[in-house]
Amino acid sequence: MDWHSNRIRSAGLLIIALAVQTACAAEVLAQEAPTSQGFEIVAPPVCVNHKGETVRFVESHGGRAGVAAGMARRDEHGNPVVVRSNYAAAPPEFQGFIDRHECAHHQTGDVDRPHPPRNGPEHLMNESISDCIAILRLRDEDGYDEEKFVLVAEALRNEMSKIGFPDISISSRLSNIGNCFLKPEGPQDFVNRVLERRGLGRP
Ligand SMILES: [Zn+2]
Repeated sequence: MDWHSNRIRSAGLLIIALAVQTACAAEVLAQEAPTSQGFEIVAPPVCVNHKGETVRFVESHGGRAGVAAGMARRDEHGNPVVVRSNYAAAPPEFQGFIDRHECAHHQTGDVDRPHPPRNGPEHLMNESISDCIAILRLRDEDGYDEEKFVLVAEALRNEMSKIGFPDISISSRLSNIGNCFLKPEGPQDFVNRVLERRGLGRP
C-alpha cells in the first residue's frame, strides 16, 4: 500500500468515526425540526437497467409516515420503476442516495431475479452491493467529498434508527459504505463485475 492509498484509508476511517459520533446529534436535530416543514425533493438521477431500459422514478403517497424510502420494481405494464415515498422527510443528500441505491437494484438485475429470502445472506449481499454502487455514483458522478459522505451517513443512521434497526446493523452498513467510498473502482465497473458474475449483461 503506497502513501496515497494509506492516506485515503485513514481519511475513510476518520469519516466513519465522525459519522458514528455525529449521528446522535443528528437525531436530536431531526426530532426538533418542525414536522410540517419537509425537505425539498431532489431531481432523480439517470437510471438504466441491465437490459438497457430506462428506469422511471415515481412518487408514492404510501409508505411509513415520516420515513423516506424507495422501492425498485416493475410496474403493472412491466416497465422498470423506482417508487419514492416520503422523500420530504430526508435531507437531499440522502434522497439522492436512496434513488441510486434503488437504481442499482435495476442495474444489477436484482429486480428481474427471484427474490432471495428476506434478511438471508443473499439478500444482505444484494443490499450491500446496491449501497456500494450508490455511494460510488455520488462520489464519481456528483463529486461527493468526505463532508457530503458524512451527511449521507448521518441521514442513513437517522432513518434506520427511526425504523428500529439495531445499532450493530446500522454500523455494519455504514462501514460497508465507507469502504466502498474508498474503492479505486468506478460505479459502472463495479456494476459490470456483478453482471458478469451473474451471467447477465446488456445484449
Ligand atoms: Zn435495497
